[in-house]
Amino acid sequence: MLDPQLIDKLQKKIREILPELISLRRQIHSEPETGLDTFNTSKKIKAVLSKTSMNFKAPLLGSDLIGEIGEGNTIICFRADMDAISHEESSDLPYKSLVPGVMHACGHDGHAAILTGAALVLNEFRDHLPARVRFVFQPGEELICAGKTMIENGVCDDCEAAFALHGWPGLPAGSISTLEGPFFAAGGTFEITVHGKSCHGATPDKGINPIPTAAKIAMGMQYLNDTALRLNNSLATVCVFESGHLENIIPDTAVIKGTVRFLDQGLGDIIETAVRKLIDCAIAEQNGIRADLKFDISYDLPVVNTKKGYLAVKSAAETHAAWIEASSPTMAMEDFAYYLNGREGAMFQLGLGEDYPALHSSIFDFNDDVIGAGVMMFCALALDYRA
Ligand SMILES: [Zn+2]
Ligand SMILES: [Zn+2]
Repeated sequence: MLDPQLIDKLQKKIREILPELISLRRQIHSEPETGLDTFNTSKKIKAVLSKTSMNFKAPLLGSDLIGEIGEGNTIICFRADMDAISHEESSDLPYKSLVPGVMHACGHDGHAAILTGAALVLNEFRDHLPARVRFVFQPGEELICAGKTMIENGVCDDCEAAFALHGWPGLPAGSISTLEGPFFAAGGTFEITVHGKSCHGATPDKGINPIPTAAKIAMGMQYLNDTALRLNNSLATVCVFESGHLENIIPDTAVIKGTVRFLDQGLGDIIETAVRKLIDCAIAEQNGIRADLKFDISYDLPVVNTKKGYLAVKSAAETHAAWIEASSPTMAMEDFAYYLNGREGAMFQLGLGEDYPALHSSIFDFNDDVIGAGVMMFCALALDYRA
């Protein structure tokens, strides 16, 4: 536990820099960038951090920003993502997105501002740091899993532990929540194309209608979800069913698409085999029909918090925030999973408010009132770190 006097000093410093962090967060919000194209976002962050003694490192993907504060051979990594998503913002905030069709709907603007704040504060308290802290501002968390590439490029090779947060609607504002073990899911997408044979709707015997077979597959997948997958904390949800375009034409194909999530790394292959079997059974009942399955598990690791990482987050939270032990993992995916592969650490949720708009909604806007609590968490994790 941190010394209460040190906590007071940290809180005072955080209050001082809060207006600057809110301003940075809103600037990032109004000029969102997606994927690996976060060059201007990292430039904004670097401009704020240039007044610290941060030792900047060469970027690994061009648009990332990596810097260190402190001394010593023990290194801990703090990671924030900073990419936005392709989504039209529907609110009329004064700092609303200036880029049509792109917005910060996942709160990565808040994550980036919080980690910037932690670097500003820890720079002032660097003589108290028991370890070197590596700050990683990462692009491409959404859809392209750039965290995996950052790890493959060695961003954390010499780090003993890694920590990250995600703002979370539904939890009281400023509260901290996590658990030991799997916390965010692994997963990806699937696409099944059922190939029949097109003909006139009035002469179905002249063709092969792919729709009944596709419907059987979709129903089978629902059964799979309700039984074996649910028992194994996993899912394969059908979200798209597309076929046909006119009332009197039997189409050539029917396409089913959806999302796959699981918490146990080995389950991806097992789910793929189960879906393939289900498809084989459905097509066996209809002569001349065939089906292709594309199964793409792009986030193939779940976020697994280590015991030590979980306890560090819990202890840091108890210095200043409401602590909520998470009752179950979330089925959302996070490429922070790769930072924790073979390394101590944890990901935790920072409550944005109980009735807060959902992540990825068109009215989502990170809650500036919790930035201070997020900064304090990283400061406490760093200053109280025990190798
Ligand atoms: Zn997201
Ligand atoms: Zn996110």
